[in-house]
Amino acid sequence: MLAYQSLKQELIQYSKEIGIDQIGFASADDFAELKSRLQEQQEAGYASGFEKGTIEERTEPNRLMPGAESIIAIALAYPTRLKNDVKSGKGNRRGMFCRASWGTDYHLVLQEKLSQLTNFLTERVPGFSSLSMVDTGELSDRAVAERAGIGFSAKNTFIISPQFGSYIYLGEMITNIPFTPDKPLAEGCGSCTKCLDACPTGALVEPGRLNAQQCLAFLTQTKGFLPDEHRDKLGNFIYGYETCQVVCPYNRGVDYHHHEQFEPDPDLVKPRLLDLLTISNREFKRKFGKMSGSWRGKKPIQRNAIIALAHYKEVAAVDQLIDLMQHDPRPVIRGTAAWALGKIGEPSGIAAIREAMETEQEQEVLAEMRKGLAYPQKVE
Ligand code: SF4
Repeated sequence: MLAYQSLKQELIQYSKEIGIDQIGFASADDFAELKSRLQEQQEAGYASGFEKGTIEERTEPNRLMPGAESIIAIALAYPTRLKNDVKSGKGNRRGMFCRASWGTDYHLVLQEKLSQLTNFLTERVPGFSSLSMVDTGELSDRAVAERAGIGFSAKNTFIISPQFGSYIYLGEMITNIPFTPDKPLAEGCGSCTKCLDACPTGALVEPGRLNAQQCLAFLTQTKGFLPDEHRDKLGNFIYGYETCQVVCPYNRGVDYHHHEQFEPDPDLVKPRLLDLLTISNREFKRKFGKMSGSWRGKKPIQRNAIIALAHYKEVAAVDQLIDLMQHDPRPVIRGTAAWALGKIGEPSGIAAIREAMETEQEQEVLAEMRKGLAYPQKVE
């Protein structure tokens, strides 16, 4: 056990050398409390559907790796401010990827760090075995990070690190080494309710409990029509949403630029909305493929770009929107474009909706056209 104590210290030292901002150690015991919470979430219909594995796999590390003794949690801080911001204005509107998808896809960066830790331990411990995951694995990154003392579990459901706020990426590694666990931190929200008050959809149904089906960050990643009641709330976000983080006092002034890979290219994280409407698959992949925000492909991004253009009532977008409404093979894009034309309200757009209604076959698209025509229209 003493040997593992010094190994733990060596590993902590090594983690600093390879640029891991925080590391913590947790037991590999079952996450009993999480299990009942996940069951409740599922029964209430609050799950996102993106979760991997059964509830048992997500809460019992030993099911994932027999012989599991500990879990190592890591955190990397990401930047929150653009160094060379780009202007967005009338005729040249820009959308916004949320901060968590700036720079190179964090899954890749954290997996690389975890591999380095794995190699470090493999060289020193005969019979070492481990299983690493970042976000898309069965384990809850947040539950592990909380248990390992990386931060406390906050009312906005994020892990808040005393130093980095909630602007951290999390990953973990189950190991067969019985490292001494670190202590969880005390809850730090106190009587604050800023995130719950600021959430525009009421997705934070109670402190620490999220209805993913109402969460705008989740909804930007869906591929169907965005529910009507949420379209006016997204603003210019085309991927993710982060008001519940932005308003948090723990995030005030937090802006760490520790990792070159996470440095955002302003032209990519705030792309011109009009350019997104006509981008080819190949070009989308070339430009955005390295960002985590591209994982669902270009359709949700284009749908959200159309909604953002409608939010701005961007007259300069009318011709392109008409073209999409008339010719795009994807009903979600045709319909959302029709709705946006109605919201923008330019007479040429309205006339185009009426004309397209005569030939449109899809009921869902026709419904969007009718919604578009229901907006007050400009008089020529
Ligand atoms: S905004 Fe307030 S309640 Fe919400 S996570 Fe931050 S400290 Fe906690």
